[in-house]
Amino acid sequence: MKKEAPKHVEMKYFSTADNQLLIGGQTAERLAARIGQTPFYAYDRSVMTQKVQELRNLFPEQLHLHYAMKANPMPAVVHHMAGLTDGIDVASMAEMQVALDTGISPGTISFAGPGKTDKELTAAIAAGIMINMESEGEMERIAVLAKTLQLAPIVSIRVNPDFELKSSGMKMGGGPKAFGVDAERVPAMLARCAELELDFRGFHIFSGSQNLKAESLIEAHTKTFELAYRLAQAAPAPLQWLNIGGGLGIPYFPGEQYLPLDEVAANLKVLMQEAATRLPGAEIVMELGRFFVGESGVYICRITDIKESRGETFAVTDGGLHHHLSASGNFGQIIRKNYPVCVANRMTSKMPEKVNIVGPLCTPLDIISDKTPLPPVSIGDYIAVFQSGAYGFTASPRDFLSHPEPKQVLL
Ligand SMILES: *Cc1c(COP(=O)(O)O)cnc(C)c1O
Repeated sequence: MKKEAPKHVEMKYFSTADNQLLIGGQTAERLAARIGQTPFYAYDRSVMTQKVQELRNLFPEQLHLHYAMKANPMPAVVHHMAGLTDGIDVASMAEMQVALDTGISPGTISFAGPGKTDKELTAAIAAGIMINMESEGEMERIAVLAKTLQLAPIVSIRVNPDFELKSSGMKMGGGPKAFGVDAERVPAMLARCAELELDFRGFHIFSGSQNLKAESLIEAHTKTFELAYRLAQAAPAPLQWLNIGGGLGIPYFPGEQYLPLDEVAANLKVLMQEAATRLPGAEIVMELGRFFVGESGVYICRITDIKESRGETFAVTDGGLHHHLSASGNFGQIIRKNYPVCVANRMTSKMPEKVNIVGPLCTPLDIISDKTPLPPVSIGDYIAVFQSGAYGFTASPRDFLSHPEPKQVLL
């Protein structure tokens, strides 16, 4: 018997009516009319709320949840997330301004990222947000800039751990990295930190992203706490803060399953209990981007032409790689795989046909979905790409070929 091809997980946060996809209760056609165009990204805030609630229900109550806003920095989204989470993690000065505009306490905003400029550091010190220091040099510059401002900057050290987050979509720690200070250099940095007038709070240990394996996350979380205990011995003051990173993934591709959150939660519960005695008073933070917002978003584009080429059908759309680099497979994928897609105005059919959905760019990289069984398509149909709420709009080269920009809406 022929083995069945792996499938995408069910898109459980979306419903249908009359064989049409509903996004925030509305069809793609109606949304396109209200937005005035395709292509567009539509994000459903109720999905974001559900995702945060899912973690609040399962994870230890003392664990603080932060939103890493580079996943989706649309101001309306950041504002919504600010109301749901305990803080926001920013990676640039412009992101910092959006986070401050939400009105949350500056003390709950943290700023990580290599190569922060003097201008960015000055702004962060003046704003009173926490700076996750990425190098010894950055620490020295912060001390000088803070003296001029006569302010005590709130700082933590971003540590490049001496372990990796296994089977991660994107590794951000372990081995030589541009991110953070190697764990073995941290004790010397802490000694210097004590000589400077810095308000030292703790550590930021982020090992990776997009992970769907509970055992890998359990191992990384356990090692993260062990590393923090070890480094805390060299700290000038008891730790007040420990950011254990995030890394929780969402299923994008055929064959991927939801991460078993209960297993990750059970381990965190044990680790947090131990931390309560070994790091008394320290706030423990987890920072997540795509887990909170990735599933809330769809990207909608419209079929403008249909053609046959040597036995295959190509549906050409008004959207593509320039708007949604990740779905095209060119944002960190090693082997291109399809995102879950549908014909939003004709969800099912008894006679699916294989179709290649492509964009209008003059490059063979501009693929939205390859050899995908879908209801027979027509010109004018709406194609929806699911799992598009994170690393979509702002992670795409929107100027490439100078086509019109997509719009974004939060529903
Ligand atoms: C990008 C990033 C995140 C968010 O990663 P997700 O996979 O979106 O959860 C969190 N922390 C840091 C330091 C990052 O650079």
